[in-house]
Amino acid sequence: MKKQRFLSLPIFAVFLAMGFIYYTTVFIFIEDSMSLNSSNGLLNALIFSFLALMSFISFITCIVMEPGHVPANFVLEIENGGEVLDQGSNKNGGNPRFCDKCATHKPPRTHHCRVCRRCVLKMDHHCVWINNCVGFVNYKPFFILILYATTASLYSTVMLILDIFQKDWDSIRGQHLKLFYIICGTVLIALSVTLTTLSGWHVYLLAQNMTTIEYHEGIRASWLAKKSGQNYRHPYNLGVYKNITSTLGSNVFRWLWPTAVGHLKDGTNFSTTSRSS
Ligand SMILES: [Zn+2]
Ligand SMILES: [Zn+2]
Repeated sequence: MKKQRFLSLPIFAVFLAMGFIYYTTVFIFIEDSMSLNSSNGLLNALIFSFLALMSFISFITCIVMEPGHVPANFVLEIENGGEVLDQGSNKNGGNPRFCDKCATHKPPRTHHCRVCRRCVLKMDHHCVWINNCVGFVNYKPFFILILYATTASLYSTVMLILDIFQKDWDSIRGQHLKLFYIICGTVLIALSVTLTTLSGWHVYLLAQNMTTIEYHEGIRASWLAKKSGQNYRHPYNLGVYKNITSTLGSNVFRWLWPTAVGHLKDGTNFSTTSRSS
């Protein structure tokens, strides 16, 4: 099942892009501008290799790691009188949530993914680039992946610019090299802008303890609350530090390690602030 996830065109495209960007950055941009034999060149190559390796590890982790599914004993908890309410979207009591397709009760923040054909705990979105859902368990590696990928992409763009500025373009004949640099520059700048925007968006969501789905649900909930003269507050927002540690863990030194998810509980129960606002 997990191996089959690798059989996807977008994943193949990401591997190709990673390989191409790594090769051009180290063996063309850094080699050309400062030489890999110089201490400066070697240091930059090592820093970039570290970023590329961490992006690679995070990417594999996102693909292989299960996003988190409803535990088999979850129904028993309901039979024992447990409360299964949609705390996120129904402030006035809420109703037990049930997935007809999976024939199971849905814990709070769980949503059914039509692509995976399963209910996913604290579902954020289904990502085609990892051919997997992003949910309760693999949100951390996904978040870390975009942080490393953004940094690597910006680093590569800086190396490209340094290389362009030190080249004596007047003495270079033919258009092939110029065209190569124009294509690389366009791709890297587009990638950097996209990844920086995505990182900024997920830093915001992390600080709010919100998923992408909850953000969209929140817009509607705010509108409905305003109509009845009330204020809507995202119920899982426990303050920025608690929000961050609930996803990345309390050990700051393990925040940037993608597989460090031991702090996560079962994903069926979440602390909330007071429902009255
Ligand atoms: Zn389902
Ligand atoms: Zn999915």
